Amino acid sequence: MKVERIETYLLEQTLDTPFYFSQFEFRSRQVCIVKVIAADGTYGWGEGYGPATVVKAGVEFLTPLVLGEDPLQVEAIWNKMRLRALDYARRGVLVAAISAIDIALWDLRGKLMGQPVSVLLGGRRRERVKVYATGMYFTETEDLAGKLADEAQRYAAQGFRALKMKVGLGVETDVKHVRAARAAIGDDLQLMVDANHAYSLSEALRFARQVEELDIGFFEEPVSPEDYDGYRELRQRTSIPIAGGECEYLLAGFRQLLSQRCVDIAQPDICGAGGLTETKRIAALAAAFQTNVIPHSWGTGIAFAAGLHLVSTLDIVPGRLRMPEAMLEMDRSENALREKLTAPKFQLEDGRVAVPRAPGLGVDVDPDALAHFARVD
Ligand code: CA
Repeated sequence: MKVERIETYLLEQTLDTPFYFSQFEFRSRQVCIVKVIAADGTYGWGEGYGPATVVKAGVEFLTPLVLGEDPLQVEAIWNKMRLRALDYARRGVLVAAISAIDIALWDLRGKLMGQPVSVLLGGRRRERVKVYATGMYFTETEDLAGKLADEAQRYAAQGFRALKMKVGLGVETDVKHVRAARAAIGDDLQLMVDANHAYSLSEALRFARQVEELDIGFFEEPVSPEDYDGYRELRQRTSIPIAGGECEYLLAGFRQLLSQRCVDIAQPDICGAGGLTETKRIAALAAAFQTNVIPHSWGTGIAFAAGLHLVSTLDIVPGRLRMPEAMLEMDRSENALREKLTAPKFQLEDGRVAVPRAPGLGVDVDPDALAHFARVD
């Protein structure tokens, strides 16, 4: 079997309510998805994380390397793409383009072999994956603390057992918001915070000290992704677990983060850091550093399904009889594209989502939704 064709789609949705986080505002959501088609018509879907137009250009650059290759030999194709990109892109969006093609190849390989991706990755340790709700972004409102608290309660009512809120507007404001959210959901639910690298080290320390008593599950991207020293020092000086890695790429990038003992939790994005092929290796490297992986996930059902399959294969470190649950991020911010693009729909049950059992990723793209959201340049 050979890869015969690769199609890229740039999808866009204008948001009803623009929202922002510590770095910039979203008025629309864009994503580039990829369809890799084999000679017999079997196809796989993939997705890249990052600016969609740039991901699309990257996929088109890499396409000639993949056409004619055997889609069962995913790792060999991955290496070919990687070597072609190495001189120009040791991190960044061209790696996301590799990731998109790689995920599509895993989906295609699974369909050709009649097996779910999780089985091909080494085997499912769990049939359902605990998910945490990502939301609680900032919007223009008079009572942002109240709005965030209401949203936290809504996720709790939906059945989430863990949720993550944005911080990074300024230490005093952020502390007020986190206190409001914790008061709204009580003590039983996990609450995490994400600064999207908005803080200096001293601000991150000041914030951490003030919210330590609120039982924070992890503090994500506290400082600049370039500031490995800052990560390490913060981690030594707070009891809150430190998380990071959504801006990190490939094994070489995660080696920096892990060998310098920057994080308690590594968060590769499968659609950015190198696809399923490389994220599986990153998880192995993290395990060697006694660090657990909770993948970053902020895309469509393709990205989320890839996350479910990978997380289903992770071994928690250290092993013990009663282990903490493996977890995956589940974006809940407004995104009709995410909700409508793929089928079947993911169901939240007892704070968990079932890992698909169908061959490949176990999700397909709805042709009507694809036509609706596709942007024609
Ligand atoms: Ca984040």
